[in-house]
Amino acid sequence: MERAYKFRLYPTIQQKELMLKTFGCVRFVYNQTLAVRRDTYDRDKKSLSTNDCVKMLPDLKEQYPWLKEVDSTALQSSVKNMGRAYENFFRGLRTQQGLKSGFPKFKAKHHSKASYTSKMNIFVGDSAVKLPKLGWVKAKISTPVKGHLLSATVSMTRSGKFFVSLCCNDVDIPQYASTGKKVGLDVGIKDLVITSDGVKFGNPKFLVRAEKRLAHLQRELSRKSKGSKNYEKARLRVAKQHEIIANQRLDYLHKLTTYLVRSYDVICVENLNVAGMLKNHHLAKAIADCSWGEMCRQLKYKTAWQHKTLVEVGRFFPSSQICGSCEFQNPETKDLSVREWECPQCHSHNDRDVNATKNILKEGLRLINQPAA
Ligand SMILES: [Zn+2]
Repeated sequence: MERAYKFRLYPTIQQKELMLKTFGCVRFVYNQTLAVRRDTYDRDKKSLSTNDCVKMLPDLKEQYPWLKEVDSTALQSSVKNMGRAYENFFRGLRTQQGLKSGFPKFKAKHHSKASYTSKMNIFVGDSAVKLPKLGWVKAKISTPVKGHLLSATVSMTRSGKFFVSLCCNDVDIPQYASTGKKVGLDVGIKDLVITSDGVKFGNPKFLVRAEKRLAHLQRELSRKSKGSKNYEKARLRVAKQHEIIANQRLDYLHKLTTYLVRSYDVICVENLNVAGMLKNHHLAKAIADCSWGEMCRQLKYKTAWQHKTLVEVGRFFPSSQICGSCEFQNPETKDLSVREWECPQCHSHNDRDVNATKNILKEGLRLINQPAA
């Protein structure tokens, strides 16, 4: 099994400088090779392969000697990333968010993620990670790293914290016992997750509190004049609060998905409606969708780790309109404000959200030809 371990890094000033320099260099070679590839195609109608682009690196290093100061495997990974983005565009592939890949964008300093990936000479110690050109970088190793190390991705957050993500394969993952239980899940308006067993997982109080504080900090930032010292301080506070919330939410989602994969053998979820999500300007709904997307991502790999089953049910399946007991389709429930309804046919009392999850479970089991729960 493949898995990644993410740890906080505590670089020295020199190490930090070299990391920042590497972020700049990987962005530079990405942009340079993308430009050559595009121009060659425009001029000669000739397509360069990604390998051709990787072979440009020695020449680029001669032309720009400062490229030699950083890890060469990081430069290679960056060019390969460019190649993947370029090929995805030509193959008309869709991104993780389900959108059609556009022509790869040139990376601008302020709008691209500060990160790079090293492929070789990586070692993990008790409280440090050894990375090419940097040597041992102090790190908080919170879990023992197992398996065979493939790569290390160094990144910096907007508030200036450094992290390393170590990707390993051949990791032995302890298996949970089979429970024989099946569940349907849905995202609610008020609740983060609703299960077909009737359990609702709301947003935890600490998250609600943290979001209120973020709103307060954002109001303060809007009152400062751009470019001033106080503006920069306020911007940093907002960035930090964003990171706190993102981490808390991620932590909560990890606990939740681990619980779900431990408790159930078959998990049925509704596909994320990306088109609808992007059109949605309602903030609370956007955040809920974002958490749902992350939750499904975690469920996908955790069910794979545990040899359990995740079934995705089509997004146009009218899960909230069908009575979970007798399958009567009630169009009156299309309106989101209808929270509960009585079935006109079998007179069962349906809670909107729980009813939807029961239908998702039923539809999921039908898709994998399993008898209803
Ligand atoms: Zn009914």
